[in-house]
Amino acid sequence: MSDVTVIGGGLAGSEAAWQAAEAGCSVELWEMRPVKTTPAHHTEGLAELVCSNSMGNLSLTTASGLLKEELRRLGSMILRSADATRVPAGGALGLAREDFSAAVTEAVHGHPNIEVLRREATEIPEGPTVVATGPLTSEALAKEMAELSGETLYFYDAASPILFRDSLDEEKVYLASRYGKGEAAYLNCPMNGDEYYAFIEELTNAELAPIKDFEEDMYFEGCLPVEVIAGRGPETLRFGPMKPVGLPDARTGEEPYAVVQLRQDDAEGQLFNMVGFQTRLKWGEQKRVLRTIPGLENAEFARMGVMHRNTYLPSNRMLDATMRVRGSEVPLFFAGQLTGVEGYVESSAMGLIAGLNAARMACGEEPMELPQDTMTGALAQYITVKDGTLQPINSNWGLVPAAPKKENGRRLSKPERRELQARMALESLEKFAGLRTEVAG
Ligand SMILES: Cc1cc2nc3c(=O)[nH]c(=O)nc-3n(C[C@H](O)[C@H](O)[C@H](O)COP(=O)(O)OP(=O)(O)OC[C@H]3O[C@@H](n4cnc5c(N)ncnc54)[C@H](O)[C@@H]3O)c2cc1C
Repeated sequence: MSDVTVIGGGLAGSEAAWQAAEAGCSVELWEMRPVKTTPAHHTEGLAELVCSNSMGNLSLTTASGLLKEELRRLGSMILRSADATRVPAGGALGLAREDFSAAVTEAVHGHPNIEVLRREATEIPEGPTVVATGPLTSEALAKEMAELSGETLYFYDAASPILFRDSLDEEKVYLASRYGKGEAAYLNCPMNGDEYYAFIEELTNAELAPIKDFEEDMYFEGCLPVEVIAGRGPETLRFGPMKPVGLPDARTGEEPYAVVQLRQDDAEGQLFNMVGFQTRLKWGEQKRVLRTIPGLENAEFARMGVMHRNTYLPSNRMLDATMRVRGSEVPLFFAGQLTGVEGYVESSAMGLIAGLNAARMACGEEPMELPQDTMTGALAQYITVKDGTLQPINSNWGLVPAAPKKENGRRLSKPERRELQARMALESLEKFAGLRTEVAG
């Protein structure tokens, strides 16, 4: 029997398995694909990205940038694989989807302490375990988790379509990154006012795909379907995913009235995904409506948008900030999006904490919390102590201590304050990592 069992080979489970293995434990990683698949996964690779191929902003003036930097410094295998499979994406960490999954699969399969088993867990095994089966946990295990937690929570998440580049009208789309930041990485489909309002009209009247037991208003605000955003008012998309500012068309020198941005999705640049265009429209309707966008008249779809109900746990009543189930007799941990964080990087971060701690307990050591003034530690803290109902949460600046408004008598700008917050978090992490080495050594 292995020292630690990890269930689910997604972002969180792969990270957890790697961390536990690196700490010297023997690890069994159970992944049910391809024996059984989920409604959103398409491959048998570990850490498959189900929708966007972006891990968010790289800048340390963003909460997501800080979280990624912390994970790098904590030795995250997911971040290392992401950095190694980057595609041009302006200031964001865009990934060649398949290469990223292949890098993680290779790292996990190649680790001498990890054995990967392709099987579905229908119940939680005995012994030190990390459950990281994600928002689309298979039914039997979800039932067992509901019994353990007393309730499970859920929300709806949608994925955006992916297009073949050679089906786009290169005369109409143009390459640019917002405000010229980084390399010109996005393909932009420009719209004038008439085209924009005609598109909004089509989008808001298109037919939706039926979903079993669907309840309205249970969306995650950070990932709303494009038709829901459009339904909030005709201008809303122009101030959201279709914002044209900073994206002048080099051919005219002018900013269009609205744009649809496409981000490179594979290393070769043959696939592009529609940024912020997650949707629940029926597939036929998606094709019809999205082909009214200038440049996409003949677009061919490599993947359609879909929406799913996502499960998560009431971690605020169930877990402590080490990701351990409070009061459980055996070391039982949860990780990833199941714990109430949202997003690829956040899920990986909770995988890292759970993996490290499962290994510690397997070695007879106490699990540990990360400092609360780091983004990683603060996220873990938030989801495990939040009052009332836990809503899925991304990394954000409200979680870590605020920076002073002035330094050396000078008022700091917002980006400067963010950088200072990031610096404080990273210093705290370095101090903690130093301590950790001392304890381990
Ligand atoms: C439709 C949709 C769109 C999304 N879009 C985005 C996005 O654009 N950006 C973003 O950051 N996040 C997005 N998310 C959230 C995304 O799922 C998470 O950020 C991330 O994948 C969560 O990582 P995880 O490891 O917790 O779960 P996952 O990556 O889903 O991994 C869970 C793994 O567990 C396996 N599994 C499930 N049940 C069992 C079982 N019983 N036994 C064994 N294995 C099992 C699954 O096959 C899967 O490989 C989206 C989610 C959905 C459903």
